[in-house]
Amino acid sequence: MSPLRLSARRSALPVLLPALVVVAALTAGACRRSTPPASAPTPVTPPPAVASAAPTTVLLISIDGLLPEYYLEATTRFRAPNLARLLAAGSHAAACESIFPSVTYPAHASIVTGVRSALHGIVANSVFAGAGATRRTYRPGDWYWYADELRVPALWNAVRARGLTSGAVSWPGTVGASIDYLIPEVWPARRTLTHESLLEMAATPEVLAAVRREGPLPVAALGEPDRDDWIARTAAGILQRHRPSLLLVHLISVDHATHVHGPGAPEVAAALTRVDAALGVLLDAVAASGGFARTTVLVTGDHGGVAVHSAVAPNTLFRAAGLIETSDVWKVWAHSSGSQAGIYLRDPADRETAAAALRLLEENAVAGGTRRYTVLSRAELDGLGSHPGALCAVDGAPGYTISSGLRGELVRATPLRGNHGSRPHLDGLATGLVLAGRGIKPGVLLPSARLIDIAPTVAHLLDLAMPGVEGRVLAEVLAE
Ligand SMILES: [Zn+2]
Repeated sequence: MSPLRLSARRSALPVLLPALVVVAALTAGACRRSTPPASAPTPVTPPPAVASAAPTTVLLISIDGLLPEYYLEATTRFRAPNLARLLAAGSHAAACESIFPSVTYPAHASIVTGVRSALHGIVANSVFAGAGATRRTYRPGDWYWYADELRVPALWNAVRARGLTSGAVSWPGTVGASIDYLIPEVWPARRTLTHESLLEMAATPEVLAAVRREGPLPVAALGEPDRDDWIARTAAGILQRHRPSLLLVHLISVDHATHVHGPGAPEVAAALTRVDAALGVLLDAVAASGGFARTTVLVTGDHGGVAVHSAVAPNTLFRAAGLIETSDVWKVWAHSSGSQAGIYLRDPADRETAAAALRLLEENAVAGGTRRYTVLSRAELDGLGSHPGALCAVDGAPGYTISSGLRGELVRATPLRGNHGSRPHLDGLATGLVLAGRGIKPGVLLPSARLIDIAPTVAHLLDLAMPGVEGRVLAEVLAE
């Protein structure tokens, strides 16, 4: 999420929801499915295939900023009992590789499409029209909220093509998506709109009406802990009322805490405990609607998080060299998203500006023996499957985030203590993946997985067609 939208208001810790009963029910469901009683007589005719004939659901939960250690150390270093029990019931990855840039909107687009950002077209959190054609005219501050900015089909398209239904609560980039039960993530970037008015325009009326019967809409800023509880309860209601084949849920406050307090801070652990309670609400709903015999649960994240102390603003270099006049009048522009930025030319054929920009960036990458960022060439970006149309990118060195700021010093203080966005294989930027329930083998440790593997794996579980993905089906964890 954007640190710019962080609210200073802190809410009281919610009470940790009891989940023992939930997980016991889930595990019992899994055992009933896989372990026939020893004394059972040999049936004359095969038993009815209840599990396969009944409606089944894949519940795909993204915990924004999830690190593998949050589930690997769920009961030792952290208090995340629901993650721990999901881990015990299913299989998991030692780490799950994000994409470049390792930021929220591009990464969530990769989760649901199975391709990297160069193919799905969501190149940053906030829209940058210079990155290529967009479907509508955006204003500064708008994010990639609209599903029709995706250049490839998403899981929800494949679900509908199969004649099945889907739901999503707070999943990034879903405004206008062909999702049957939808509360998208969107917020007012301008004072003329309210969060409630946006939801009235963008959410499924039937779902919104059901939410309103339960209580007021959340008008608090995204990232506040109560919002994750609301998201979980809303998704649980969709699961129990509508039983969609695919249900996407995005929980956000762990990442919020990481930005404000830095990775490893006690506040991040507290946020994880609250998000784990929201996960408990969802697992409760799974248990109440057939348990693991009917539902597959995937918990993943979108990126990790690393400590930062300073921000680098490449546009100050370009402005000082006369390559930028204003944010509207420029020959070259650094569009940052997290701790990296794509560098774009107004005229891609302007070789003189390209050479000047590359020289300025290289000259300032290291100062006083300290590397502040790395310049990634066009060829490197092609290898990373990112930043289509960019001249190059700058990727912050450890401790440095990247700003689109135009004025002031090249290197400046940042109010953030944590950020993400850099190349996904770098330390601290991997996320995680836990899978459990219907169709999943228990006890498998995947040495690695990638976000782009999730869509093909979900497609396999639901018998959907997802052609053209870059990821693979994680066959090692599949029961069949
Ligand atoms: Zn995120």
